[in-house]
Amino acid sequence: MKLIVGNWKMHGLTAALSEAEALKTALSATPTEARVALCPPATLVHQMSAVLSGSAIETGGQDCHDKPSGAFTGSISAEMLADAGAGLVILGHSERRAAFGETDAQVADKVQAAVAAGLEPIVCVGETLEQRQAGQAVAVVSAQVAGSLPHGLAERTFAVAYEPVWAIGSGLTPSLEQIAEVHAAIRSALIDRLGEAARRVPILYGGSVKPDNAADILATAEVGGALVGGASLRAEDFLPIIRAA
Ligand code: PEP
Repeated sequence: MKLIVGNWKMHGLTAALSEAEALKTALSATPTEARVALCPPATLVHQMSAVLSGSAIETGGQDCHDKPSGAFTGSISAEMLADAGAGLVILGHSERRAAFGETDAQVADKVQAAVAAGLEPIVCVGETLEQRQAGQAVAVVSAQVAGSLPHGLAERTFAVAYEPVWAIGSGLTPSLEQIAEVHAAIRSALIDRLGEAARRVPILYGGSVKPDNAADILATAEVGGALVGGASLRAEDFLPIIRAA
């Protein structure tokens, strides 16, 4: 079953919950084969999980602190997200790595905190355009996977998302061959770390997934789902991506 996750980023006031309701209505009328989650801004997690209750659509966060509580003004812990109704959390998104200087080691600490709180982390990795042009995409992404996963994950449920930085919000996507190559490298980095347990970890693709390219991307080898930004904001755009899974 493919995992299709919407990342609303810093978009959405209370009125945007109508999009979650529209998605719920459409998917209850015609159920999907896919597992679906929406990750709104933290301010909407509680309300969204209430709106989505009674449906199969899950709610997630977009980041969390690595400590359960404490003097960390402005931060939100994994426990708090879980308490608000989240079941998943996106971690290590390239926007956080770039704008907040998150390192692989910090992402690994957050992943540890998330699983301890019962959340399912979606760990993001991806190369920059310069790294891709220098032929380093596979090496960079493999190193990020190794560095961003804490030890002891073999028994845990989590996903990895391959999100080339240059593909996010740009309308550009790698070729299907490039996606397959990096996903295969991620699978082998996961197997190096977790052994055979790694075969069940979904590897999502993210970066300019749209209704018109979703089917091809989702049919590519080792693509276990999609992490969708802009096209997840409106149910009418997100639904065809979900239906393509
Ligand atoms: C993202 O931010 O995770 C993302 C994939 O964005 P977009 O789909 O808008 O490229």
